[in-house]
Amino acid sequence: MSTNDQNNETPKAQIREGTNLKDFCDNLGVRARDLIEALNKQGIKVGVNHDITKDIASLITKISGVAIEITSIEDEVSQLATADPEELVPRSPVVTIMGHVDHGKTTLLDAIRESNIVNKEFGGITQHIGAYRVDYKGNSITFIDTPGHEAFTRLRARGANATDIVILVVAADDGVMPQTKEAINHAKAAGVPILVAVNKIDTTGADPDKAKQQLSKEGLLVEDWGGDVVSVDVSAKEKTNLDALLEMIGLISEMLELKGNPNVPAQGVVLEARLDAQKGPMATVIIQQGTLYQGDAFISGTRFGKARALFDEHGKPLKQAGLSMPVEVMGFSDVPQAGDLFQAVLDLETAKHIVSYRLLKIKEDAPQQRNEHLTLDQLFKAIEGGDTKELSLIIKGDVHGSVDTLNDILPNLSTEQVTVKILHSATGNVTEQDIVLASASNAIILGYNIKPLQNILDLAKSEHVEIRTYTVIYQLMDDIKKAMHGLLDPVLKETYLGRAQIKRVFLIPRAGEVAGCLVMDGKITRKSNVRLLRGEEVIHEGRISSLKHLKNNVTEVKKDHECGIGLDRFKGIQEGDIIEAYIIEKVAPAEL
Ligand code: GDP
Repeated sequence: MSTNDQNNETPKAQIREGTNLKDFCDNLGVRARDLIEALNKQGIKVGVNHDITKDIASLITKISGVAIEITSIEDEVSQLATADPEELVPRSPVVTIMGHVDHGKTTLLDAIRESNIVNKEFGGITQHIGAYRVDYKGNSITFIDTPGHEAFTRLRARGANATDIVILVVAADDGVMPQTKEAINHAKAAGVPILVAVNKIDTTGADPDKAKQQLSKEGLLVEDWGGDVVSVDVSAKEKTNLDALLEMIGLISEMLELKGNPNVPAQGVVLEARLDAQKGPMATVIIQQGTLYQGDAFISGTRFGKARALFDEHGKPLKQAGLSMPVEVMGFSDVPQAGDLFQAVLDLETAKHIVSYRLLKIKEDAPQQRNEHLTLDQLFKAIEGGDTKELSLIIKGDVHGSVDTLNDILPNLSTEQVTVKILHSATGNVTEQDIVLASASNAIILGYNIKPLQNILDLAKSEHVEIRTYTVIYQLMDDIKKAMHGLLDPVLKETYLGRAQIKRVFLIPRAGEVAGCLVMDGKITRKSNVRLLRGEEVIHEGRISSLKHLKNNVTEVKKDHECGIGLDRFKGIQEGDIIEAYIIEKVAPAEL
């Protein structure tokens, strides 16, 4: 907090969001009791631990004449590592290897590690910390040590993008396979450039050209095919052409002009985190801005700490870690989450203050903080509000033909306001990966002739991802069109509650007809919808106007109990009629 009362101007005080009354008074040199009394007189009951909110601040200004500016903690945090363009220097690339299973991702990671590892002298063996660096002709390259798109997309789902370049491994003897396609779509969704490594060129069945031709069909035109995607033929097993691959990484990163400012407080992304029996909570952080020094205080999500020790991928202690470096940090208050941002701050006190403020915010915002994603029936609102210009879809279907058809026709539904974009499409049921990709990219999943499994539906629910399933292509198209124009009807599902039989009909003054019933099955609730059945015939559908058990108004009556039911706006009930109760819920179509 700082104050300024020079030059006879209005005295000003700047305080950080979440500052309580006591700290505020201490800093300003006034007695908290006096201020509390003054606030009480204005009708505000507060204690010393109460935060200075905007309302309280304006009252204090009214009482004392001190103008108070409350600064946002998250703004302050995000500005810490803001780099001055003048101070930017080139930084080395961070690379993730993706591709189909068994195409040689792990072998390639190992081969590169063995031939080009940095700091060979320190023990020689790398430890698994989630990433490692290699040195190629004096330039460093950081490889994320978890191949595949799962970890990549999971990080992205948490708002973090740690990768600059994706190496797509395609086995020359196997060609483009389902996970190759998935990897392409995941990298594209993240906007990360792809470098193709056609692997296993040593095998007898190798046909690198065929693999490249197949890639062109997936929209990945490599240079040999007239495109601008760089590709290198390699053999991870024989360590053939690895230098050319590293050379190309260098070239692409030059083109990307990757830069950072080493002189600001460190900022990065948590790649992996674990609890070590001796060292306590540890996390590997990729530094994206600034330099992290041993002893720095930091925050990461709702964790804070002081970097008691830093280690590289060989377990070698470091005094500092710079741009694009993976570094294992010891000194977390608790294990952080992979994908959380990591930010060095002024001191431990600031770190604690920010984290306790974040925890408070999470508690306050808990019901709203649900990480909502786009749903089809909110699409129009989002378009109108200017929040959405794109409808991202993931398409899953039972057979190739229908998936292809949807791939062809859905983008044609794009309008001036909104572009329909297909992030990923494949045959087969909805997978966990689809949900993670949808969550990371705010996409909706459309299923054609498939029924997602319950665990997938549960995951979709917890990630707030919408899955819609259809059995008629026309209906699917129609829903998308309607959604884009705000005409989509919510999908409603009826849930049966119970039945009651009318034993007697009473005529009550003012209340009208009341049915004396016995609940035969389930329950009847005051808020349920009801239909009156006479034999097979539905006589009436509507609501309940009163529900009584004995003489009391009740909210529900269960099986084998008697009750009095009044029907809203209906006359003509008869003994022997059945009252069926149900509720209508708005649901995602996949749950139908
Ligand atoms: P991942 O599932 O993509 O990580 O694939 P792996 O790296 O585990 O490799 C799968 C299999 O392919 C292993 O048996 C490797 O030895 C083999 N392999 C990987 N690269 C090559 C290569 O360049 N040539 C040959 N002949 N085999 C390879």
